[in-house]
Amino acid sequence: MNNQKFQSFIDLVTFDQNFTELEKKISVIDTTVQKFNNQLTTLQKQLEQNSSKKRDVKKQLDAQELQVKDLQDKEKHQMEVVESVASTKELEAANKELEYLKIERNAQEQKMIQHINKLETAEKEYAALQLKSESDIAEIDTQINTEKSALSQAQQQIESIQKQRSMLLSQVPAEWVDVYENMRGRVKDPVVQVTQDSCGACFSLISSRDLQALRQHELLQCKDCYRFLYCEEKK
Ligand SMILES: [Zn+2]
Repeated sequence: MNNQKFQSFIDLVTFDQNFTELEKKISVIDTTVQKFNNQLTTLQKQLEQNSSKKRDVKKQLDAQELQVKDLQDKEKHQMEVVESVASTKELEAANKELEYLKIERNAQEQKMIQHINKLETAEKEYAALQLKSESDIAEIDTQINTEKSALSQAQQQIESIQKQRSMLLSQVPAEWVDVYENMRGRVKDPVVQVTQDSCGACFSLISSRDLQALRQHELLQCKDCYRFLYCEEKK
């Protein structure tokens, strides 16, 4: 059994474990960036909600203004009626109607003033929220940029690591690499050390024949969990 190949294989596994750390780091960064982006979306939604509230209040005010305008027209027309009636009885009725229109117009004008105040409040709220959002968004953007530069650093590390990895890979027999890569997709620790004559992951007992082979730097798979097994070099 080629000792050098075995050592390269163990080196590859150790290497990949460090690689995993780096990948974890990247995944943490991704999660953080996602979190910041969610915050941005929430802020955006708040702004939109506020803006739509403001629009609704404006619509109500417009409708109210139309109503007042309509009553003003009716009142003006009624004043003409008052001036043109012939009999006292008709005059009384026309005046009564005019009086009613005035009362109604007053009531609607009061409502209109309430809507004007409401709109003013909504506009102030929106302006304040917009101001606060702007500074919040700027702060979040800064944080996202920090994360992104950490990400690009980690990605550069991965790139240089990958070059080293292909070097290591070329020194390990292809059939080992095949089984190892296959296991790697399924478990976090595809290669484990033998401890107390058992598999280091599932603690399944290893036969003495297999132990002997392992000590001679053969690579075996655990019969229970199929992980690669290796024995630590006795120094
Ligand atoms: Zn096992």
